[in-house]
Amino acid sequence: MQKIAVIGAGTMGNGIAHVFAQHGYAVNLIDVAAPALEKALQTITKNLDRQVAKGTIPPDIKDQTISNITLHTDLAAGVKDVSLVVEAATENIALKLKIFQDLDQHAPADAILATNTSSISITKIAAVTKRPAKVIGMHFMNPVPVMKLVEIINGYATDKAVTSAIVALSEKLDKVPCVVNDYPGFIANRILMPMINEAICSLFEGVAGVAEIDTVMKLGMAHPMGPLQLADFIGLDVCLSILQVLHDGFGNPKYAPCPLLVNMVTAGYLGVKSGEGFYKYTAGSKDLVVSERFNQ
Ligand code: NAD
Repeated sequence: MQKIAVIGAGTMGNGIAHVFAQHGYAVNLIDVAAPALEKALQTITKNLDRQVAKGTIPPDIKDQTISNITLHTDLAAGVKDVSLVVEAATENIALKLKIFQDLDQHAPADAILATNTSSISITKIAAVTKRPAKVIGMHFMNPVPVMKLVEIINGYATDKAVTSAIVALSEKLDKVPCVVNDYPGFIANRILMPMINEAICSLFEGVAGVAEIDTVMKLGMAHPMGPLQLADFIGLDVCLSILQVLHDGFGNPKYAPCPLLVNMVTAGYLGVKSGEGFYKYTAGSKDLVVSERFNQ
């Protein structure tokens, strides 16, 4: 594999393009929104500058990485000669099914089509293409240049040779691949989201406050971030939508989202991206301040 397309230039897409380009792959970064592409290139440049300043990459790798990335707004042109597509567009099932139909039409017949989805069934995405054996989940973690894990998800029809190729490729990117099967939440979110939901339920029931819950999990379990802070970082809307996928997919009430989470999302308190969730985020401030709504 020499040439890769990345669909979607948001939080994940820019990180995925960065990592492939840094490891010498030619990357076509594709987004429907031209401003998103410009912003992605700025973010990649800033992150490469940070790597150079820390001494983790030599300065010439920065220039090579940038020159390996080509920006496109036209999907058909951007995927026509690639051997792998990694889709990282907005988490919306109708949108992803349409993108995969288009990819199936425009990407070379032997290209592997991977998705970075957090929760949508790989089997369902594969089923809208004429190449379900070549569709696979390649779930990078945020921030992509820093996080080592790639959760690789086999759809029901994924070919073993495709899985092996994606495992080998992830290792070339200096990541650690873990292969799992396609059931709701895969492994990462199936285990993480119930923990976050239980933390929110503990707050909702008045068992402890925000700072106490996060401190217990940070100091007691050696987690780098407490579950409520992590939920704010991921986005409370994203957490809610993944819990709904688990709840619908397994039909088990243990995955029912906490009513407090539902209320916060309905009211637009989404965490870092909206400026307030369990904590209040003031631009430029590094202090972690519990939202006044949860001050006891
Ligand atoms: P984002 O909202 O930051 O970016 C999505 C991008 O997709 C936007 O720039 C948007 O313009 C673009 N887009 C929308 N429709 C498109 C189309 N038809 N063609 C091309 N581009 C299109 O989203 P994100 O947080 O980067 O998430 C992307 C994917 O990665 C989702 O599937 C999400 O579940 C998954 N994911 C996210 C995280 C995370 O922490 N943010 C972690 C792991 C996986």
